[in-house]
Amino acid sequence: MQDEIFSIMARNGRARYGILRLPHGEVETPVFMPVATKGTVKTVPGWELEKLGVSMIISNSLHLYFRPGLDVIGKHGGIHNFMGFKRPIFTDSGGFQILKEHFLIGVRENGIYFRSPSDGVKVLLTPGMSAEIQDSIGSDIAMALDYCIPYGKSKRSVEKAVELTTRWAREFREKRRGIAFGIVQGGVYPELREKSASQITSIDFEGFAVGGLSIGEPRSLMYEILEMSLPLLPDGKPRYFMGLGSPLDVLRGVMLGIDIFDSVFPTRNARHGIAFTSEGPLDIRKSRYRDQMIPLDDGCDCPACRNYTRAYLHHLMKENELLGLYLLTVHNIRFMMRFMERIRESIKRNTLDDLYNETMEIFSRKNV
Ligand SMILES: [Zn+2]
Repeated sequence: MQDEIFSIMARNGRARYGILRLPHGEVETPVFMPVATKGTVKTVPGWELEKLGVSMIISNSLHLYFRPGLDVIGKHGGIHNFMGFKRPIFTDSGGFQILKEHFLIGVRENGIYFRSPSDGVKVLLTPGMSAEIQDSIGSDIAMALDYCIPYGKSKRSVEKAVELTTRWAREFREKRRGIAFGIVQGGVYPELREKSASQITSIDFEGFAVGGLSIGEPRSLMYEILEMSLPLLPDGKPRYFMGLGSPLDVLRGVMLGIDIFDSVFPTRNARHGIAFTSEGPLDIRKSRYRDQMIPLDDGCDCPACRNYTRAYLHHLMKENELLGLYLLTVHNIRFMMRFMERIRESIKRNTLDDLYNETMEIFSRKNV
């Protein structure tokens, strides 16, 4: 158990501006974390993320455990040196991989069975082992191993997942040496959300995540459950919502009281040619950009906007050039960092409603 790691400095409605104090530095919240699942935010080196204003990223400890392996990361003295990013790194336990990975075998009472993608060996990931992996990698914040049950399962199955999540959370907390966040489950059932929140928040975690949402349920239902879940978490501790990354969704989450976000949305969109701009989303592959002599986004200070025209970026994406993937990615990351900065400023000035109206206007446009 650590000292208090979080201070709330200002509020605007339910939104909070705060400071997270972590082993690799301080992070202002609300914060958006680009995703580095396998130890890289695709196409962007660690030192460049720092230049773009990224204050924290999230990686996946299970992927790193399988490949390259803890011995290799250990030789580098931890993940920060390994990937050349010296600011705080969050790690996920791998529990979320239940939903999407081909290497899942099955869930048992004492953990989750996976098949290693490198050598096919069967591995039982227990809460204690997940804590040891995340300790060994050197993560600033470790996520407890949880049972994230897919959307659409029966209430009985979700209840079982809540039970296991609580038992695993206790074991995880006992083993994890550094900062750890607990995860509340409960699917889309309000009474199970309440049960899970009361059990998980009774464990001595430094922060809490709302898990098991944004996994295929209707958006309106997600917001309904999120809204009822947040008051169940202690006000003074940081709150993390896993997997929300469109500018409008992040802003809505902030207004409900979320402090930490992560998603592949900005970076994955970039690799498909979609840039976030101050005029709304823009698909650079469209033929209308073939000869446009202006930057992607006038107000942006990223390397793509400072050095290149829309015409050049259009050309790169049409030719599937790697440089195009890189430039669009750094632009979208920089967009998100500037957007989060505006969110934090708006909370301090009590003007979040104005920012919401403006963002709603811009991002409900289909394409500019
Ligand atoms: Zn830019």
